Parts: sequence; C-alpha cells; structure tokens
Amino acid sequence: MNHIAFILIIVYALAITAVFVILLKKMHKRADVKFDYNNVIQKKTSAMLFDLNGYLLSDRDSSNNEHVLSCLHTGDHISAFTRAKDIETYLNTCIRHKRNVTVKIERSVKDGIVKRIDLIFSPFKSNGEIKGIIVISQEMYAKDREAELLKKANDLAEQNTAAQEQITQLDAQRSELELAFKKSSKHHIKLQKAMYRIEQQKQDLENALSIINEQKSELERVNAEIKKSNQMKEIFLANTSHEIRTPLNAIIGFTNLLLKMNPDEYQLNYLNNIKNSGNNLLFIINDILDLSKIEAGKMDLESTGFDVRDMVSKIVSTLSVKRDDKDININVDIDARVPEVVVGDPYRITQVLTNLVNNSIKFTGAYCQIDIVVRLERIVNDDVELVFKVSDNGIGIPKDKCEEIFQSFTQANKDTTRKYGGTGLGLSITKQLVEMYHGHISVESEEGKGSTFTFNLILKMADSTESANVTPSAAEPVATDRRISILLVEDNEINQQLATDTIKAWNSNTQIDIAGNGQIAVEKVKSNDYDLILMDIQMPVMDGNAAAKIIRQLDPPKNQIPIIAMTAHAFKEERERCFSNGMNDYVMKPFDSDDLCSKIYKYAVDIRHEVKPVADEADAVSDEPFNLDALMKICGGKTEELSRIVGVYAISIPADLSDLATACRNKDVDTINMKTHSLKTSFGYLGMTTAVQMVLNLSKLLAENPDGTILPITHIMDEWERTAPLIKEYVRQLQA
Ligand code: ADP
Repeated sequence: MNHIAFILIIVYALAITAVFVILLKKMHKRADVKFDYNNVIQKKTSAMLFDLNGYLLSDRDSSNNEHVLSCLHTGDHISAFTRAKDIETYLNTCIRHKRNVTVKIERSVKDGIVKRIDLIFSPFKSNGEIKGIIVISQEMYAKDREAELLKKANDLAEQNTAAQEQITQLDAQRSELELAFKKSSKHHIKLQKAMYRIEQQKQDLENALSIINEQKSELERVNAEIKKSNQMKEIFLANTSHEIRTPLNAIIGFTNLLLKMNPDEYQLNYLNNIKNSGNNLLFIINDILDLSKIEAGKMDLESTGFDVRDMVSKIVSTLSVKRDDKDININVDIDARVPEVVVGDPYRITQVLTNLVNNSIKFTGAYCQIDIVVRLERIVNDDVELVFKVSDNGIGIPKDKCEEIFQSFTQANKDTTRKYGGTGLGLSITKQLVEMYHGHISVESEEGKGSTFTFNLILKMADSTESANVTPSAAEPVATDRRISILLVEDNEINQQLATDTIKAWNSNTQIDIAGNGQIAVEKVKSNDYDLILMDIQMPVMDGNAAAKIIRQLDPPKNQIPIIAMTAHAFKEERERCFSNGMNDYVMKPFDSDDLCSKIYKYAVDIRHEVKPVADEADAVSDEPFNLDALMKICGGKTEELSRIVGVYAISIPADLSDLATACRNKDVDTINMKTHSLKTSFGYLGMTTAVQMVLNLSKLLAENPDGTILPITHIMDEWERTAPLIKEYVRQLQA
C-alpha cells in the first residue's frame, strides 16, 4: 500500500512539473527590486484544480474561485523557490502535511516596473481525505512614482534640447576634422589639437548644462516657497484687516449714535475727535491694504463705462464742504471734447483724484483755491488719452522733494505728520494706479505759492452699447416709518447692538430678529417671514456665504428675500463671492449708517412693496417688447434715475447671459439657478415679459433635467439683443 501511494505521488508530481515548466521558465530569475504594494497597477488572479494524478480538472479566473478559496488553510510560506525541481517540494509538502504552501516570486520586468507572482498550492479535502490540489496564481505589477519621474524627465529633456543642438554641431565639426585628419598626413598634429579642443568644448558645455539644470531646480524650489509665502502674506493681511475693522466698526458706529443723543459742547468735541481718529485709522488701513495689493500684483481694475463729468462733480461736492478752519473753493474745467462715457475703473480713478484734491486741501492755508482741469489729449482707435491737472495755492513742495514724495512713506518735511497728519502712502498709491493705466504723474511746485499735479490716463472709448455706470457716492436714506421686519445675522454681540440701534434710530418701526450664525438664520428664514436679511460673512458654525446659498435654494417666496452682506473684508473677491452666492448687495464694515439704511430702504421698501417685478408665471406675455412704467414709478418719475438704472441693466444682463451660457456648457446647476433667478428679476423690472417667459421655461426644463443637459439659451440672448436698443432709444427720447 505504501508502495502504491509512493508511485502515485511520483506520477502526480511529474505531471504537475510538466504543467509548471513553462510558468517557471518565465520566473527564472528573482530580481533585487522591492515590490511596493502601494503602487499595484494591475492584478490578475487565476485558479487551477488538479486531481491527485496531476490532471488539470478546471481552470478558472478569480471571479469564480470563491469555493476554491474557502478550502485554503493557513500553512507554510516558502519564499524564493523558483527552480523547476522545487515544484515537487511544494506539492509534496502540500500533500504530506495536508497544508497549503505559498510561494512569492518577485522580478523586475521593465525599468521601474516590478512584477510579483504569488502561487498558493493547497490540498483540496472532502471528508478529511485529499481529493486534489488547487493552485492559485496571482500576478501583480507595481510601478514606482512613474508619472513623477516622467514629468521630471520631460522637463529635463526640454532644457537639454538647446545644449544638445550645440553638442551635435560640435560633433559634426569633429567628424569633419576626423575626415580631414584621415585625408591629410601633413596637418595631423594641428587637426588632433583641434579635435581635442572640440572635445574639451563639448565637455565644458555638458558641465555648464548640468549646472544650469541644478540652478533651475533650485529656482523652482525657491519659486514655490515664494509663492507660498505671498499667499500667507495675503491671508495675513486679509485677516488682520478684518480683525482691525471689526472693533473699528464698533468705535465709529457707537460714536455716531452718541452724536445723535444731544451731547453737550465738551462731549460733542470729544466725540468728534473719536470719530475723526477712527476714520483716519480706517483710511490708513485701506491705504496699506491697497499698497500691498498693488505690490503683490493683485490689484484688479474693473472695466466699466462711467461718466467723467459725473465722477468729478461727485468728488467736488463731497470734498468742497466748508470746514471750520477753511474756506474751500474748487473750480472745475472739463474740455468739451472729453467723451461722455469712457471705460475704466471709476472707483480707482476717483481714488486718484480724491487723493490729490485732499492733499491740496490739507496743505493749504485758510483760503483754499483748487483748480481741476481735464483735457482730451488724443483719441487713437479705441483709446482715449485724458490729462488731469489739480492745482492749489498751498505751501508748495521744495524742488528736491518733488520726485521723492511719490515713494511710499515719504513726506516732503520731517514735521509733516505732526503738523498735517498722514502717512506718506497716498501719492505712492496714486502713482501706481496711474501707471496701471499706462499713465504718468508729476508735480510742478513753488514753495509758498502752490503746487500743480498733472497725470494722464489711457482709457478705452465706450462702444455704443456701453452706458455710464454709477460712480460711487453715499446715498441719503429716505425717511420712513413703514414696518419692516429684518433678520440680522451676526455673531458679535457689540455689532448686533450697533446695527440694531442704528436701524432703529432711522426707523423705530423696524422689527429686528437676531441669528447668531448662518445655520440659525436658515432655520429662522424657514419658519418666519422677513422683508430683508442682513448677513455677516465670517461666523462660526455656518458662514454668511453658505447660509445665503442655502436660502436661495429654498422654495419660493423664501428664496427671494433680499440679502445684504455685511463684510469687513475690503477685497473685491470677497464682494464678488457674496454676489455669486446670491446676495443682492453689500455694506462694508464699519458701515456708514446712511449707506446701511438707504440700502435697507431700497430692498425692503422700494423694490419689495411699491412695485412687483413682472416675473410671475401667471402674467400674460404682453405684445410690447418692454415696459418701463413700473421702473419709472420706482424712480419717482425721474428720467435721469431711470436712465441710470437702465444703464446698470445694460451691463448686468449681458454679463448674466454670458455667465449663464458658460454655466450651461459646464452643467453647473447652481450657477444656472442663480443666473436664471437674477435674469428673471432684471427682465421683470424692464417689463420684458417674453424674456421672462423664456427664462421661466428654461427653469422648468432644468427642473425636468436636473443634470442640466442641453439647455437652449440663444433665443433669450436674441430677445435681449433685439430689445436692448429699443429700450435705449426709448430712454433717450424721454430724456430729450
Ligand atoms: P501724506 O499726505 O499722507 O503725507 P502723500 O503720499 O499723499 O502722503 O504725500 C506725500 C507728501 O507730499 C506729503 O506729506 C507732503 O509733504 C507732500 N505733498 C503732497 N501733496 C501736496 C500739496 N498739494 N502741497 C504740498 N505738499 C504736498
């Protein structure tokens, strides 16, 4: 019996050996490369079942071999047996000990690619008796950081090309020399020397190349560090500015409230001092922020149509207010040829002129005479060059300081700060802003007589579709005692009180409900009705942007409550983020009480109660392409105001349409929803019922295809293109 068993084992072993010979030939050598299991890129498992005579019973891939796997037991692990005769050992071990045997074979296939084969030999048992052998083979490939290396190699290849070309040229020269060397017997030594020189040059070049490459990688490393530290600086600045503005908000705001409480003469004096110091601190923070933005190359100029005359007159009316100690007289002379509307950043150009006029007022005695002149220098194609002059009869600037004063933190005299205040940043910012418009600024001055600052700007001409936008100016709030219900979302208790008192001082009939963070706000909006939401941005738990986004996704009419952001961040990106999350407007902290209250009036009273935009589905589509009657009512019958608002739509609607088109292409459902909402309202105010209907249909389509597949919007664009000129002409005739 023993005899038969022995023969059986031998026969079976031989048969199995034959099956594995081919497999084992492939794995003959074991490589030294380590197999990295984290980088497995391909896995292939197969299982084979043999009977005890060595016949292959079945050959399955991994998905079907669960029953096979369930038969395996933990067993001996034998690594590194790769020679053919070892197969016998595996099988014998497997049968004799009735255990499974694991074999691992590792080898490198190609550069960087390592292959590992795991073989498991396991006895297949039934009622305690071995019925056959299961062999499972698993092949795995690991690739080590291949993509990374590939990129590096590509970079290097690129840099090397130029140097390689030179080496090729040198090689060519050497070949020529070699040829000459063979042909000529006379000049052997000379030629040999020349060849040697070329070899040397080639070597030098190769050395230089490796130095260049080293330098390049060092450069890249440093570059990355700089980029990171610039980002840190910006985050630091944004946060610091926020941290300073928040308490300043409270200081200036409460001072304003105290000023309205009939203070006595002394108190009035002290309060005014606090207010002025607070405002000065605010100016300084703004200057430092502006300067660091310019230096970081992050100052983005807006491009919008604006009226130069309107801008100058607003600056003059803001600055020429008679002060206790000064009689201020500002004279304006604007060349008739200066175009009505030009394209630029009205906010920044206002800042440039304001800086200069403010300096003129500051550095002038009791009688202050200022002249502002604007001339058209030339028009070339779409470009308009304008020259601005600001002259005063003030203290003047010493000749040798006329250049220096444009540098940061530089003043003409050591005692300037003590006598007149200031930091010496204004002109530096002014100069850099002017240069961003490819302009130049200079000063001519005589001590004791006065100074003239001259600068030029190269702006774009407005095309026929561009209308003048609003230049920034503080609005007077309309007095009202209408009952307004406001949700104030603000985490800081001092700011809660300040905003509440400010609003109540304007309209004692306002109801103010407070939410300490965005999440509470969302819950409150769901269960209460508000006319308006004032939304702080930085808050714990849920910030203002996230809350606004959620509110805009609620069911109507909750999603249409006007939201005004209250932000202490001065950056444009921050304001844009508020708009892109569906907020209607923003007030800056520290807020100006007039600004805050007039915005509350605008959104909670004017727009909400007086007039309903023609944006309801129930509204029939009218025959007229547009109707401005409702808008005219909002504007209190003032044609000028109507023209201004229509001008704003002429800019915002094409921008919304273009954003909508992009969002449709990208299937960005959030943006599509937001833009259709905004367009529906805009078209509604312009009485463009057909366009409103088109937008509503689009919303319906989107609801039916929530993934945003193929939304037709060109007909909406066509409708706008058709109607916009008609509206413009209508307004023009009204004005005439
Ligand atoms: P600041 O006014 O804050 O000191 P600026 O950069 O605006 O900083 O001005 C730098 C300096 O240039 C002033 O400190 C002052 O010495 C001088 N300066 C600017 N404008 C005038 C002016 N209109 N008349 C006299 N000196 C001026």
